[in-house]
Amino acid sequence: MTERILIVEDETRLARLLADYLRAAGFATEQLADGREVIAQVRIKPPTLILLDLMLPGRDGLDICRELRSFTNLPIIMTTARVEEIDRLLGLELGADDYICKPYSPREVVARVKAVLRRGRQLDAASTTRLQLDADRLRVRLDEASVELTAVECGLLATLMSAPGRIFSREQLIERSYRDHRIVSDRTIDSHVKKLRRKLAALDPTLESIQSVYGVGYRYEESNAECR
Ligand code: CA
Repeated sequence: MTERILIVEDETRLARLLADYLRAAGFATEQLADGREVIAQVRIKPPTLILLDLMLPGRDGLDICRELRSFTNLPIIMTTARVEEIDRLLGLELGADDYICKPYSPREVVARVKAVLRRGRQLDAASTTRLQLDADRLRVRLDEASVELTAVECGLLATLMSAPGRIFSREQLIERSYRDHRIVSDRTIDSHVKKLRRKLAALDPTLESIQSVYGVGYRYEESNAECR
């Protein structure tokens, strides 16, 4: 069955360009430019995935995303013209699966669409996590091996693992992982994540379970061994 992508975008040239690229990648597409038409369209004919622009005539993407999540789990990728918006969107916990900042290359959008769909399939197929976090002992275990973590690394990993697949901004990670609410910078988070990744790689170099999302933050996602 062909996977159908609903493109909600009021810049018609951009929408058409995206549609061309998505069709070339084997997807069927539909386009809507008016925010007021989205909910009805999705209810009548649910697509495989929605690309939802934030600023739309009629009704904004935030509102639409919230209403969609009240009745469906289908993948949503939000697009926005301002990179600063992404932090705010993450903070609102809208439940979108990914965020892309404009200007983007259509090729990148196609890659992100594929990644989100692949992730959905993997989560359906096998949702057992291989890493076992022992927060009391500050250790993480994989099969028979384990490594020690610092309190901060342990907090970071616990936060990321609490919602696999979800993107956490650096701000959210700082808020949730530092119990003493020290003032920390984005750079500090990056260096802790780097150390944490190195420790996890020592358990299994192919794991790559903490992924950075360019310009946004990090997410935890165990790659499915059988799919590699
Ligand atoms: Ca727009």
